[in-house]
Amino acid sequence: MITKKTLNLSLKSLRDFAKKRLPDQDLIDLDNRDECPVEIVRYMSNPDKLGIQLLFIPEEYGGMGGSTFDVYLICEQMARIDLGVATSLFATFLGSDPITFGATPEQKKKWLGRIAEEGILFAYGATEPDAGSDLGALKTTADRVEKDGKIVGYKISGSKQWISNGGIADVYTILANTPVGPSWFIVDKGVPGFTHDKPEDKHGIRLSNTAALALDNVYVDADRLVGGVEGQGLLQAQMVFGYTRVMVAAFGLGAGWAALDRAIPYSTKRIQAGSPLSEKQGYTHKLIVPHVARLEAARSYIEETAQRIDAGAEGSLNTEGAIAKYMATEAGDAAADASIQALGGYGYTHEYMVEKISRDVRITRIYEGTSEIMEMTISRDRWQLHLKTRGQHYHDQARELEALDLQHPGVGAGIAALAAHALAEVMEKARAARLTRYQHILLRLGELVAYTECAGSLARRAALMVEGKLNEKANDRFDATAAAALGRIFARDAALRVAEEGLRWVCGASGVSDADMAAFEAALGLHAIHRAQAGLIADMDYIADVLYSRVAKREEVPALVGA
Ligand SMILES: Cc1cc2nc3c(=O)[nH]c(=O)nc-3n(C[C@H](O)[C@H](O)[C@H](O)COP(=O)(O)OP(=O)(O)OC[C@H]3O[C@@H](n4cnc5c(N)ncnc54)[C@H](O)[C@@H]3O)c2cc1C
Repeated sequence: MITKKTLNLSLKSLRDFAKKRLPDQDLIDLDNRDECPVEIVRYMSNPDKLGIQLLFIPEEYGGMGGSTFDVYLICEQMARIDLGVATSLFATFLGSDPITFGATPEQKKKWLGRIAEEGILFAYGATEPDAGSDLGALKTTADRVEKDGKIVGYKISGSKQWISNGGIADVYTILANTPVGPSWFIVDKGVPGFTHDKPEDKHGIRLSNTAALALDNVYVDADRLVGGVEGQGLLQAQMVFGYTRVMVAAFGLGAGWAALDRAIPYSTKRIQAGSPLSEKQGYTHKLIVPHVARLEAARSYIEETAQRIDAGAEGSLNTEGAIAKYMATEAGDAAADASIQALGGYGYTHEYMVEKISRDVRITRIYEGTSEIMEMTISRDRWQLHLKTRGQHYHDQARELEALDLQHPGVGAGIAALAAHALAEVMEKARAARLTRYQHILLRLGELVAYTECAGSLARRAALMVEGKLNEKANDRFDATAAAALGRIFARDAALRVAEEGLRWVCGASGVSDADMAAFEAALGLHAIHRAQAGLIADMDYIADVLYSRVAKREEVPALVGA
């Protein structure tokens, strides 16, 4: 187990390293040249140097056995430095995940041991030209090679597309179809028949190497089949989604904050109409504060999910990983885009970095499952819970939040409860009118679920802070008072979104008759949700003051009143 002290030391050495070896001008130059700094990636992976990958490898194989929570914090920090370099390091964790979770003990010892001791780079080869979101459509084949009736090896043929580290990895995990289904194989670079294309010319993460792979009758021994049993590949990929999506969620979070942390100081110095932009409410309350609330809601959900994975939660928390990834990457992307706006014309140039961050963070909404696939994953799972509990799943969550609100009025739990009740009503109406036959409605429900669950999570986090029980490693940028204000701001957004968007799509699919309309609006709690917006401007003023260190200058801090 990694202690808080060790973790903080690792985070600090990452920051110090970046300051020295990856200053802004170098990042801009590498981005302009579209160049992956391979020697820096190798230095960061070298166990005798930075050895970042040691954090991810279990102790029994020579690593430090970092928890999911540790990994989230490291990923956030890496993303704050550069998302391209972070992706390159992430490719090794991703590439070795089928081994960590699905390999035989001998395979784990050999390959995880080599990552820990030698710092070798991996690539994860799942996507194909015609198999992206739908991995089941993969065409790469692994034909058995038999001798005396025994399988001694496989011949792999096919193509892989968009593979991070594709041109620089030492070892590749390749998903290919055996006679009984998809399976992972471990393939060394440079073996006969195995080639990679030139690096892709990309919109962002230009410091990462992305390349297509071609496999033409590539022979591997039978011991390169991960787990030694054919047909387990998709299952092994599924097993790690909770964990890997938390990592990409942390990328969205880190990149979003990296952009805001450039916009915030900029706005204190930029004078327009006689005063700094930071003092203009129309600026801060559009371009800064809402993004902070969304990012912190995503952080809260990431932390809860990471803690549950570390506590050995049943199942692989795929849906929770999807909610964390969806919220954090959408929030990170929106925050980076708002940061360009916040810097005006300067934001649109390379020199000020926010446009690079914006191009970089865009990928997090695409890789490791697109946002639309996340919406589908979330919606399908929570729809089953809605049916199984006869419509009570989100009403139950709302009741728990109402109980929390009684204990901690003002953390946003009461408003989050309004969102959860409204979601239960929208889902029930969708069930009665059979609206999930419309794919768009199903996916919109995924979005509303994510907002509702993140609102509940942020309120719980604020309550834990009040009680002094938040995980000691958790990010402590905001104190309990600010966390509560953020909880209220985000819960208001979630409740309004669920009620109004829910109403919109139910009506849009003709799911409610004119005669039923008033009753449906009442069931959604529209009136209470509109009333709960009271206090929003005061809370946003308060968060702006916290962000700009103006809190001490105010005469009074808003009381922790719920709506
Ligand atoms: C820079 C980069 C690095 C990458 N690194 C790796 C890597 O290391 N290893 C690896 O294996 N892969 C990698 N990928 C691939 C990545 O995971 C895929 O691009 C991603 O899963 C989407 O697949 P696709 O590109 O084929 O898009 P598609 O699946 O064709 O999707 C196109 C659009 O359609 C939507 N869509 C798809 N299916 C549905 C549906 N059923 N209903 C509604 N909408 C749908 C998607 O949300 C998306 O908006 C990388 C990609 C990039 C760009």
